[in-house]
Amino acid sequence: MIPLVIAHRGASGYLPEHTLDAKALAHKMGADYLEQDVVATRDDELVVLHDIYLDRVTNVAKCFPTRARDDGRYYVRDFDLEELRSLSVWERMNADGSAVYPGRYPAQSGDFTINTFAEELEFIRQLNANSGRQVGIYPEIKRPAWHRQEGVDITPGFLRVIMDGGYENIDDPVYIQCFDFAELKRLKIEFDTPFKLVQLIGENSWGEAATDFDFIRSADGITELAETVDAIGPWVLNLYELVDNAPRPGDLVMRAHTAGLAVHPYTFRADELPPGFSSFEDLVRFFVVDLGVDGLFTDFPDRVVQLRLS
Ligand code: CA
Repeated sequence: MIPLVIAHRGASGYLPEHTLDAKALAHKMGADYLEQDVVATRDDELVVLHDIYLDRVTNVAKCFPTRARDDGRYYVRDFDLEELRSLSVWERMNADGSAVYPGRYPAQSGDFTINTFAEELEFIRQLNANSGRQVGIYPEIKRPAWHRQEGVDITPGFLRVIMDGGYENIDDPVYIQCFDFAELKRLKIEFDTPFKLVQLIGENSWGEAATDFDFIRSADGITELAETVDAIGPWVLNLYELVDNAPRPGDLVMRAHTAGLAVHPYTFRADELPPGFSSFEDLVRFFVVDLGVDGLFTDFPDRVVQLRLS
């Protein structure tokens, strides 16, 4: 079994997430797919950033100190693309400015930039052409319901960018992911999208979408999902349990496979191992060999590619 290696926000274990630099590195490391998270600017441009906020990955608070909302956060939606281009992208920070992952690219340094979704797809097209390797795209529509509340429906523009990027049918290397099941149904039915669809699965407590993830994981939920999507993207803790501190497979992978769904869990980080694992290699082997997942999202694509080759 050879699982797909999906570079989570690029080779984000090494360079600030969602920069073109992190994407180029992941491409060179041998990732099969590069992930994009897509959010809308004030002037309805689509940019590649993980959060609807800017403050944890840029110097926005220094450049635009008066532009936070009442909750203290700086929203992508409150800035024009031109303003976003003036920001430096930094390694992910906590609220106090300290590094989320201290061993990674130094905190609050570097002069990486925010890019549009279209620019990233063009960049990947160039990398594919130069290398002769066809690396796919794995874009996520971030918080579609929230964006509608903010006055923009991001899905039509999101699809247009993908089509303009030269992707057009189910065999093309594209997976579209979303936490919001209603939006995935919309993609399938209203937009008749030709691309593979992935239901992301988390916990209801995260507030990512109105989707009921407890139901989605159930037998009935998986059966319903299978009418719309091609794969699920659960987080790692959805897939195993600990018995005497040893990981034991849960039943979600088998349930999904029985329904014809591929399983692409997130997120595999060498510097943040989930409970029950003492090494990154053991973690990956358990998911690939014992659980039989079909792909995995990782911040360290080189480490997974290396294992796959060995
Ligand atoms: Ca994502």
